[in-house]
Amino acid sequence: MSSLVIEGLRAGVGGREIIRGIDLTVGSGEVHVVMGPNGSGKSTLSHVIMGRPGYDVLGGSITLDGADVLAMAPWQRAHAGLFLAMQYPTEVPGVSLEAMLTEALVGAGRVSAVGEVRARMLVEAERIGFDERFLQRPLNVDLSGGEKKRNETLQLGVLQPRIAILDEIDSGLDVDALRDVSRRVEAETNERGLGVLAITHYRRLLTELRPDVVHVLVRGRIVATGGPELADELERTGYAGFAGEDAIPQEPTREIGDPLSDPFADPLA
Ligand code: ADP
Ligand code: MG
Repeated sequence: MSSLVIEGLRAGVGGREIIRGIDLTVGSGEVHVVMGPNGSGKSTLSHVIMGRPGYDVLGGSITLDGADVLAMAPWQRAHAGLFLAMQYPTEVPGVSLEAMLTEALVGAGRVSAVGEVRARMLVEAERIGFDERFLQRPLNVDLSGGEKKRNETLQLGVLQPRIAILDEIDSGLDVDALRDVSRRVEAETNERGLGVLAITHYRRLLTELRPDVVHVLVRGRIVATGGPELADELERTGYAGFAGEDAIPQEPTREIGDPLSDPFADPLA
């Protein structure tokens, strides 16, 4: 059993505080969903967990099974069992998917036989309906948005992390690909006890990938936590009801007849 524990996390980028006090625990086999408006800090959270350079941790802690994640380099976080499917996967010309996955697994001391990585890749490609010819391309180069997301899912299947963060893995996927990808991730949670932190805007990801907990992130804070029904409610109502306690106050509404209510009004009317 693994558990990723985030406590009182505050973090920023470019001199601005974006994550403003987050507490979140993801355990093995659990699916946590984070939903929130654009710019609320969802991707920032995923990058800070994975240790992307350029982000400043301002307070709090992240541990994986008690080990201090924030003290680790990104590759050490990966070896420890963390995985990030990026919102915008990076294109790496000249490096094949197979070479990358082989380096990752050999580096972690997790592959022995020649050909083992390719065999695993083929099994995974089959499971998510990913055409084999994409496996020969340089990493993510000339893949469509949806193909990149399948590619991320394939990596997850081959690398078998303990905790996976999926940053909008559904974006760009057509309905069939969405079903294949979410089913594959759900199977990992059931078969291997993968813990998932899934960032999404859409409830449709959550038909195959069944959430245990849904969190609403607004302006760098979790302002609501609930069960799957919270995702249904968000789909109906949007984020308007979840502004958080420090939302910017609305301009006070002016009384009709107040001369300031309409600067172009006829003053004698
Ligand atoms: P979300 O994923 O929820 O849409 P992000 O985490 O990507 O939001 O961004 C949160 C905020 O941080 C946004 O206002 C964004 O403009 C800002 N931001 C993200 N990355 C950077 C950066 N490298 N430099 C400055 N500001 C950034
Ligand atoms: Mg984002």
